[in-house]
Amino acid sequence: MNKEIYLKNTKIQYDLQYKKVKNINLRVKPDGTIHVSANRCVSQKVIDEFLISKADFILKALEKHKSMSDEPKKQYYTEDSVKDIILALCEKVYPYFEKQGVKYPQIKFRKMISRWGSCHFAKGILTFSTNLMYAPIECVEYVVLHEFTHFLQPNHSDKFYEELAKTCPCWKECRNKLRGINIR
Ligand SMILES: [Zn+2]
Repeated sequence: MNKEIYLKNTKIQYDLQYKKVKNINLRVKPDGTIHVSANRCVSQKVIDEFLISKADFILKALEKHKSMSDEPKKQYYTEDSVKDIILALCEKVYPYFEKQGVKYPQIKFRKMISRWGSCHFAKGILTFSTNLMYAPIECVEYVVLHEFTHFLQPNHSDKFYEELAKTCPCWKECRNKLRGINIR
């Protein structure tokens, strides 16, 4: 059953199971959940006291789990080299869009946090986040293709994704990978 206890002003949730154990057993699983098994004849008060006596151990284990779960982001390129990579990718993919009447856009860079790229359709400007230095190359290419595709389909409609899939069949996989990168 789910239980709660305050350890040093931190609310802790744990799972309590009554089992044929000698007294009380405590386990912090690798997923950060806390499991307590106790003999039926052990009162809640004794379980609480036991957990309070283990507060340091529990809080430390949770802290460790937390720091492991926000994995450090991997930097693939420097801020300068990612700009060169993006410019090269723009040139690489452009012929496809040129055939469809797209003028070569002005390429800009900004350290955007909430998005990887943007397309100013009317002004013919593509802006890319230099935070793409934290993304693997296939994801950088996906962002470039995504923004170029906006010159053909301004919104994120079904048509947009149909169009994008022609040049970037793995767009979904790349989008999901990008969502997993925490650049903050
Ligand atoms: Zn878009």
